[in-house]
Amino acid sequence: MRDVVILGSTGSIGTQALDVIRPRRDQFRVAGLSAGGGNLDLLAEQALEFVPDAIAVPTEEAAAELRRRLGADTPKLWVDGNDRLAASPCDVVLNAITGAAGLTPTLAALAAGRTLALANKESLVIGGRLVMDAAAPGQLVAVDSEHSAFAQALRAGRRSEVRRLILTASGGPFRGRTRAELTDVTPEQAMAHPSWSMGRVITINSSTLVNKGLELLEAGLLYGVDLDDITVVVHPTSDVHSMVEFADGATIAQASPPDMRLPIALGLTWPDRLPDAAASYDWSKPHDWHFEPLDTEAFGAVELARRCGKAGGTAPAVFNAANEVCVDAFCDRRLGFLGIVDTVERVVAEHLASGHVGDEGMSVEAVLAADAWARERASALTGGVAP
Ligand code: NAD
Ligand code: MG
Repeated sequence: MRDVVILGSTGSIGTQALDVIRPRRDQFRVAGLSAGGGNLDLLAEQALEFVPDAIAVPTEEAAAELRRRLGADTPKLWVDGNDRLAASPCDVVLNAITGAAGLTPTLAALAAGRTLALANKESLVIGGRLVMDAAAPGQLVAVDSEHSAFAQALRAGRRSEVRRLILTASGGPFRGRTRAELTDVTPEQAMAHPSWSMGRVITINSSTLVNKGLELLEAGLLYGVDLDDITVVVHPTSDVHSMVEFADGATIAQASPPDMRLPIALGLTWPDRLPDAAASYDWSKPHDWHFEPLDTEAFGAVELARRCGKAGGTAPAVFNAANEVCVDAFCDRRLGFLGIVDTVERVVAEHLASGHVGDEGMSVEAVLAADAWARERASALTGGVAP
């Protein structure tokens, strides 16, 4: 029996993790749940179905509302309790929160010695070495499909034999458009992802390729690969989740129909596989798998992320925080689509010119300060209310 804590249980990853657990109650027990409070009906339903020991919500109001819904069935309720829940006794913590809010729970889970199945790539990217240094070997298991693919493919050879990582990208809904053709795209168009159904931020990030930029940094940190040895390749159907090229010229790919339940299940049971976690291919039907290079002029986010990764320290935190503000501004129609990455680039440039803290000066305080500064600066540039 594996005891599982799920942070961000009402989101896309959180609900799919519960889908994995639901028919396997003899193998998994839900020890704790947390959510942002935006969907208390669903959180209450989950509480009644899975009967966790504890639930964390962000505010007193959310706690009172949840107590009203659950009555006598209310478990322990922790206000602002993500970090406490992340550190509580269990076999694995799944961090499926969106955005920089995932940082302190990630650090809390690692400090408490929990195995961390990490969907919240933002915490790894912004924390950088802080997060990697806090993790013992094997303690951090990637849930992102590309990084799960890397972990699976890396089993095919020795680390010293790895030549490069090939990170696949669907290309998002605007693949094939020139920069000029991206000027007028709307939030509705950006939300129509061709191969994945995900939360709002990651869906917009997939349309700008910011998600691939975050994933590039995530891969460099997780697998200790130089950022120049990670190549992004566009693969629209998201069948091949990523590949590892070895020194002799062999490339090992991990493929499966796009379904996050497979990497989520692996995250919960790594290094073992969970039988029937997701569907496999029907080879009685034809399949065409297409690959093409990334148009870095139309989609500058990957190279911007690479520059941030090379600058190290607080630069990735600024990249991420400015982007989170710009995604909101775009969804509120205060900012055009191209304005997202252009604004992030400007905020990053200002940070590198003044205020940047390198790897050697990194601390949680430095990350949070850079994050707050970038949010304020991006808000000022996009006509939003400063956070
Ligand atoms: P989502 O928006 O659907 O869900 C986010 C969840 O986090 C919700 O339950 C929300 O209530 C919760 N949350 C937000 N702020 C919180 C806070 N302060 N405390 C506690 N809970 C909070 O997002 P998602 O698509 O499930 O993505 C979650 C993470 O997984 C992101 O980091 C994303 O990049 C990553 N990821 C998602 C997918 C996917 O297919 N959806 C794939 C790979 C990686
Ligand atoms: Mg991914």
